[in-house]
Amino acid sequence: MFINVAREDTSNGYFKNYFTIARVLTSDLYSKMNYSKIKSILNSIQNPIHSRIAPTPSGFLHKGNAFSFLLTWILVRKTGGTLTLRIDDIDKNRKRPDYLQDIFDTLHFLEIDWDKGAKNPNDFERYYSQHYFLKKYQKEIEILKDKNAVFECLCSRSEIQNRNSQNQNIYDGFCLNNFLMDNQKQTAFRMNTSYFENQTILINDCNQGNFEINLAQKMPYFIVQKKDKLPSYQLVSLIDDCQMNINFIVRGKDLISSTAAQLFLAKILDKRAFLESNFLHHNLILDKEENKISKSAGNKYDFFSIKYFKENGGTRENFLKEFCNWIEIEPKQNLQQILDIL
Ligand SMILES: [Zn+2]
Repeated sequence: MFINVAREDTSNGYFKNYFTIARVLTSDLYSKMNYSKIKSILNSIQNPIHSRIAPTPSGFLHKGNAFSFLLTWILVRKTGGTLTLRIDDIDKNRKRPDYLQDIFDTLHFLEIDWDKGAKNPNDFERYYSQHYFLKKYQKEIEILKDKNAVFECLCSRSEIQNRNSQNQNIYDGFCLNNFLMDNQKQTAFRMNTSYFENQTILINDCNQGNFEINLAQKMPYFIVQKKDKLPSYQLVSLIDDCQMNINFIVRGKDLISSTAAQLFLAKILDKRAFLESNFLHHNLILDKEENKISKSAGNKYDFFSIKYFKENGGTRENFLKEFCNWIEIEPKQNLQQILDIL
């Protein structure tokens, strides 16, 4: 409601200065990441953290993405580890050049440096797009097929919704026991999430401690190969994390189910390093209605986007103040000052 008012106000020039934006930004709800929590996580880590920031070029990055990147950067730099920039572009239908550019613009704005990965959009397109590595992902899908951990599915989205009492897009395992021909066109491959007798996945989380997720309930029969034959995000993310020797993954609490799905895949594919990785699922930043903020679908005037923030006079110092507020410390002028107190 409040957001709509703000957007309307943009058109008549009301939102032209930072002070107005700052008032809006501070009015939304932070679910904070306490400084002492971050400090205790750092104290418990013995080895350098090798982590990644893994945005998708499917929208303009928002404040929540930026906070997550800053937190990852701090943990890596504080432990003398390495930071990889990995851009998850496997979903090519949602990718746009301006979203790709926005990733680099945002990282430069935040003054986040990274050790591995593309240096700019051109470098990314020439050497790093995940579409260059399809064979690597396909090899893993073949292993899943050999282990009878996947099944073919012909169902359309509307068929899935029609079978679902709440008209949701939750898959019911309809094709699990249908034996389709492997060469049928337009079939997706889904995981049999009941593959193991014990369907719970234990997540070792630095922020909340250990907890269990029932994957068959949270993400039943998730897709590993889509109908267009491209691998799904869950598989690609896991395989890349393994190849990049990532040992610590920072992501929002909204991705806890994804972590469970990837741990499940790692168990079947015997990716031990991933199974032994540390996870930090951080608290999310919420809007006025207490919904998590999400990437603006092509709207650069979404006032949670970093692009909007910058174009309306928001400075890096102002943004860092917001971040310091999130981790509940006094405002700092630069990232080094934040490192110094941790
Ligand atoms: Zn099906």
